[in-house]
Amino acid sequence: MAYQISATKLQAYQRCPYAYYLRYERKLTTNEFFGSAALGTALHQALAQCHRDWHYRHPLPDLRWVHHCWRQHSAGLTASQVSEGLEILENYYHNFIASEVALTQPLAVEGKIQGYLQVENLEFLIVGRYDRLDFLADGLELIDYKSSREAKLPDEMEMDIQIGLYYLALEQTYQQSLKYLSLLFLRTGEKIRFEATEAHKERVQEMISNLAVRLRYDRGWDATPGEQCDRCTFARYCSAVTANPAPLPETHAKSQLQLVLNL
Ligand code: SF4
Repeated sequence: MAYQISATKLQAYQRCPYAYYLRYERKLTTNEFFGSAALGTALHQALAQCHRDWHYRHPLPDLRWVHHCWRQHSAGLTASQVSEGLEILENYYHNFIASEVALTQPLAVEGKIQGYLQVENLEFLIVGRYDRLDFLADGLELIDYKSSREAKLPDEMEMDIQIGLYYLALEQTYQQSLKYLSLLFLRTGEKIRFEATEAHKERVQEMISNLAVRLRYDRGWDATPGEQCDRCTFARYCSAVTANPAPLPETHAKSQLQLVLNL
């Protein structure tokens, strides 16, 4: 069994190895609050159907096709969410479908990313998800739909990790290089493209090697104070920011590495 790694985990590790250790190795729980994502989920599902199930015998669907897809996925929403979602999808249609000569059939929609990497005698399983994967003349374009009200770009380090990790995994699955990772902001109709390069992949490989050494020897989980400390739910255990840190609570969950090594 491989040690599972995702962009979220690797980003957390890069921000602070100690916070990573507490969350993923010691499995201390946090009280993070995740708001309702019902409208976002329905929008993602409707767009997946829109690109996946169009018959592609005609170059472009008309707006009725988008309305049809929305009806299939908006049943559980409130009336205001239904009309808000419809408006977002109509904007999407005008910005990204009606403006094209022909709709291009994607390679996949709502897909899973999976790849493997062997480092320090440990096998890592790379996991992730994407909304749409398009095949371009010179590589692959991975598209993530963003439905939040705030069209905020992730920070550069987080993007670089996501690009590198997906590059690595998609190359194994499709024998094609990732050319772009694109964020498509549904509410504003903006599409931001990030170019993916071999260098992104190499940096992520280095990061995973670094993580592998810490996992294997279970040391070097250094606290790395920074801007993220303000939001860190482990601050009370952390001597880098708290004068008298609380002792770590006992947890009975096994580290994933123990399971991997069958200890
Ligand atoms: S408070 Fe800062 S340094 Fe301490 S664990 Fe959290 S992120 Fe790391």
